[in-house]
Amino acid sequence: MTADAAQRGVVLEGTGGVWRVHTSDGTVHSASLRGRLKQDQHAKLAVGDNVTIGQDDPGDAWAITEIHPRRSRLARRAPGKRHAERIVVSNVDQVVVVFAFVKPEPHAGMIDRFLVIAEANGVAARLVLNKCDLATESDQMALSALYERAGYHVHRTSVRARVGLEELHDALAGRVSALSGPSGVGKSSLLNSMFPGVELRVGDISESVNKGRHTTVGAKLIPLPGGGFVADTPGLREVGLWGIDSNAVDACFPEIRACLGECRFQDCAHDREPGCAVRAAVAEGRVSAERHASYVKLRAELAESEHRY
Ligand code: GDP
Ligand code: ZN
Repeated sequence: MTADAAQRGVVLEGTGGVWRVHTSDGTVHSASLRGRLKQDQHAKLAVGDNVTIGQDDPGDAWAITEIHPRRSRLARRAPGKRHAERIVVSNVDQVVVVFAFVKPEPHAGMIDRFLVIAEANGVAARLVLNKCDLATESDQMALSALYERAGYHVHRTSVRARVGLEELHDALAGRVSALSGPSGVGKSSLLNSMFPGVELRVGDISESVNKGRHTTVGAKLIPLPGGGFVADTPGLREVGLWGIDSNAVDACFPEIRACLGECRFQDCAHDREPGCAVRAAVAEGRVSAERHASYVKLRAELAESEHRY
């Protein structure tokens, strides 16, 4: 292979051993793994991977010749097998959790799940609350304040009233973002209005739409005009809460994490134990009662699944 034929690229998606690779000049090539890499058990390719591709001769098929080190990953762990993980998407800079103020009604517990998955994978998260045109100022304030107090950057947006789109655009530009949230909250509408070149069909990246093909297709990266990518993760739901240690879920709530190490008991579950610094923080308003309740619920759920497997 001639050296000047080699190019760096990002894997957009893969089906049946054929991977679509986006090179820095914006071209997309179909490529398969070079034989040597295919044999290597450790060289499992994932969407989002940075790779080198090349052709033996001009006009030949493209082959992936090298997989570059990953800087992050969203991985799905199998229940019961904590170490067997499958990377859903790699090199994600941030998880962008999208919900709507209404239609569909947001559920704080569900927002927390998405945020916990991001935290458990060590990926930064921000929250988008869309359809602010349909909510009163005080309803908007209540929900956004809840998450701002937890330490998250909250974007209040409206596609219809064109609110907050520029700021969200700038938060996505040039980065790899996993956009996630329930269907109908406006993910495709937001992307279409911020990145007119992207031309996503409205409803295209809804998780419900993708539900039927979770296992076969996995995530897909959408290149953004001007640089950066958005992963239409068929869900952080796909990544799931599996494998998150129930005893470590307290560290997945940033405001609770800030209290760790201050409880009377080292193995404090921050529920009914005396001398709990987290519950003290709830009483003082540093941790909200809603988030604490969410934590208790999630912890119990994870402990229950650990017990089962
Ligand atoms: P997705 O499933 O998350 O991709 O959501 P869509 O982008 O398909 O949007 C679902 C519905 O919500 C569509 O009918 C959109 O027109 C509507 N929608 C999206 N954003 C807004 C918004 O900011 N305000 C209002 N009122 N409706 C919106
Ligand atoms: Zn405690």
